[in-house]
Amino acid sequence: MVQTVYTFGGDAPHDDPRQKDKTVTGGKGANLAEMASIGLPVPPGFTITTEVSVKHLEGIDTRPLIESQVEEALTHIECTVGKKFGDAADPLLVSVRSGARVSMPGMMDTVLNLGLNDETVEGLARTSGDERFAWDSYRRFIQMYSDVVLGVDHGLFEEALEIAKEDNGYYADTELSADDWRALVAEYKGIVESELGKPFPSDPKEQLWGAIYAVFDSWDSERAKVYRRLNDIPADWGTAVNVQAMVFGNMGDTSATGVAFTRDPATGQRAYYGEYLINAQGEDVVAGIRTPQYLTKAAREAAGAKAPSMEEALPEAYAELARVFDLLERHYKDMQDIEFTVERGKLWMLQTRSGKRTAKAALKMAVDMVGEGLIDEKTAILRVDPMALDQLLHPTLDPQAERHVLATGLPASPGAAAGKIVLDADTAEQWASRGEKVILVRVETSPEDIHGMHAAQGILTARGGMTSHAAVVARGMGRPCVSGATGISIDRASGTVRIGSHELKEGDEITLDGANGQVMLGIVPTVEPELAGDFGTLMEWADAHRRMRVRTNAETPEDCRMARQFGAEGIGLCRTEHMFFDANRISAVRQMILAESEEGRRKALDLLLPEQRADFTEIFEVMTGLPCTIRLLDPPLHEFLPHGDNEFAELSDATGLGIDHLKRRASELHEFNPMLGHRGCRLGITFPEIYEMQARAIFEAACAVQKSSGEAPLPEIMIPLVATKRELELLRALVDRVAKEVFEEQGVEVDYLVGTMIELPRAALMAGEIAKEGAFFSFGTNDLTQTTLGVSRDDSAKFLAQYVEKGIFPRDPFVSLDIDGVGQLVELAAERGRATRPDIKLGICGEHGGDPASIAFCEKVGLDYVSASPYRVPIARLAAAQAALK
Ligand code: ADP
Ligand code: MG
Ligand code: MG
Repeated sequence: MVQTVYTFGGDAPHDDPRQKDKTVTGGKGANLAEMASIGLPVPPGFTITTEVSVKHLEGIDTRPLIESQVEEALTHIECTVGKKFGDAADPLLVSVRSGARVSMPGMMDTVLNLGLNDETVEGLARTSGDERFAWDSYRRFIQMYSDVVLGVDHGLFEEALEIAKEDNGYYADTELSADDWRALVAEYKGIVESELGKPFPSDPKEQLWGAIYAVFDSWDSERAKVYRRLNDIPADWGTAVNVQAMVFGNMGDTSATGVAFTRDPATGQRAYYGEYLINAQGEDVVAGIRTPQYLTKAAREAAGAKAPSMEEALPEAYAELARVFDLLERHYKDMQDIEFTVERGKLWMLQTRSGKRTAKAALKMAVDMVGEGLIDEKTAILRVDPMALDQLLHPTLDPQAERHVLATGLPASPGAAAGKIVLDADTAEQWASRGEKVILVRVETSPEDIHGMHAAQGILTARGGMTSHAAVVARGMGRPCVSGATGISIDRASGTVRIGSHELKEGDEITLDGANGQVMLGIVPTVEPELAGDFGTLMEWADAHRRMRVRTNAETPEDCRMARQFGAEGIGLCRTEHMFFDANRISAVRQMILAESEEGRRKALDLLLPEQRADFTEIFEVMTGLPCTIRLLDPPLHEFLPHGDNEFAELSDATGLGIDHLKRRASELHEFNPMLGHRGCRLGITFPEIYEMQARAIFEAACAVQKSSGEAPLPEIMIPLVATKRELELLRALVDRVAKEVFEEQGVEVDYLVGTMIELPRAALMAGEIAKEGAFFSFGTNDLTQTTLGVSRDDSAKFLAQYVEKGIFPRDPFVSLDIDGVGQLVELAAERGRATRPDIKLGICGEHGGDPASIAFCEKVGLDYVSASPYRVPIARLAAAQAALK
């Protein structure tokens, strides 16, 4: 039988590669074993593998499979620590911790201090010499265990604690004495018994098995499911369970617990960064109940805080921690996020993992670490998540703009966010779904709030530190966040928030600056991002390592300019129809559409020609020397028709035609399935004069730019929605004829190509034939997805979310290419096209051109370029480099 339980710490062997494989032992278990194996102080323990969790999820009774291995592993802990589990004189206590392959902070459950009961608590009191500590630990255990394993509402315990404090006139938990805790334990047990109708389990073994299976079950809790959906984590991975000897940060003033990063996860600065609490247990730091203190003296002084830093309060443990930081960074060659506890002066490591970071920090660390010789350029390229760059490419607050600062909290996650105040996650989601920008304002966030955090532009909390739930989750999601903004009080009942001296209502507008923690009244203006520095360096490395070119989808000179700044190497898709909607052209467009004869259409097209030529001239001036794929008119004509009586009346005035006549003409253009109707090259076939005008505008513009700058772009004229070779043959002849005419008239020639979009399954299948007529293929994967799946993108919102939830599609196929299905057509068309024309240019211009997973696929099938919207160009550059390196 395969090994399902692995021990770590003490003299446990750590040489089985499965134990350090996160897919087997989970991230936490694998790293605990790794830390133990390099000699770091890790409390001994064992990990039950994810494979057991998967079996458990399938409904298999797994306990018989692991029982004897768990017993043996427990003995390993007992021997290492020198205490026995359940021993009334000197009991071993353990924690039971979840740990999936990837970290899901706070999403699943942990139970601390397990093994306590009325007898062992006395033993703990005697051996520790601290009765208060023992009873405090016991009540923590009952509360956590009841919540996580028995499903008793934790609010009941909190209420009892509050009442006990009030009765005694205490403010803080730390004021309770051993006797107070003893009395509370009795009360807690009473609560459990009256809630469940049976007593709290006192047998440590029963407690242990209860906790193990509760952790397995927490994989399927609602909040874990939501988190998985938002982060694309498969539901069938399961979680490992770690059982580990307890160490105690709540044993008085030489004990502490903390969370730390080896570098600053917000800025990337090379400085230890973190928070700790004296005389506390792990959950106290993240829960935001007590305000944590700084790790380093420098950070404390910078913040002007009084409470001593760990460096000052526990200098020896701090020095040991600093040594461990350096060791871990050199070992993992990455920034680490660490959880530790100091028990009576001795440091213990409880967790390490590659730390979550902002995009800015990710860039800085990647570039710095290359400079430090820790990693090479390739590793640096692979380390930055392309999608995270999105955070950097967007505007930040204008430093010149006036700021009316209401309050200042901690700069928990950088970036600027502005929107309307909402006070709960559901409202955030509702308002955002109707297109409003909202800022979620909470006392503190909990895992139940993630859907609202996701829907919000930014998050503001009144409590909690830099490692609070709100801060960690917001950084992971790339949402700006200000946490711990004291001076904010929230009144949910009346829907008001008092910030400093201002009283605001739900719906009032505020702005957050996640970089400095400021909360401002109203909407503060923003400025464009800085693209030099670390960003520029990493992009240079990426460019040197990628094979595919990166173009942009753009149709205005402004977009083209922005895309070039972002590094676009041409236009992959210039749609021409938006140019038709311009206010002073739409009338001519409508006259053209509603004309009953070719002559009438030509008259209207003559009005449009100079306008289109001017558009292309401007674009070509920005894109000199670069390839520009321009798609001839694609949408069905009735999209341009007048709406309402006013517009018909205006058109009647302009054309001298009667309103009734115009309305009749318009209704003739109605289609039942416009997506499959009279559109794309079908327009060019039936109304050749439209494509003629467009081709003429393009060539005249190219010649003009050739004359004025000496360097024309390379127009690539793209015929949309081709299904047959003959369509392309006819329209290519048309374009070639117009080109010849224009070149003769202008006395200059420019290079150009004629090609097609592959966006119909038939075109993909017939690509070998079609390539005889076309010099390039551009995969229009939006339409190709629609036509292959038979799903209309515009109508799919009603069911697609459920399709993804039920696992029918792994992701929205309009966001990430359906590689199995649509991808096959792309691959096949690429092969067949190349077989006919070995030098055929291949690219992608659908929305997928900005999606890293789709880009990796494009690399695999050997496309020449991808094309993405301007803001996605840097993402595509990095993703293309990663695809080439993998
Ligand atoms: P999460 O994945 O939510 O961070 P953990 O399993 O890491 O949950 O547990 C949360 C905290 O509980 C830890 O950061 C640590 O402070 C504390 N903890 C867990 N196990 C132990 C232990 N064996 N001894 C002392 N504290 C522990
Ligand atoms: Mg943890
Ligand atoms: Mg299309």
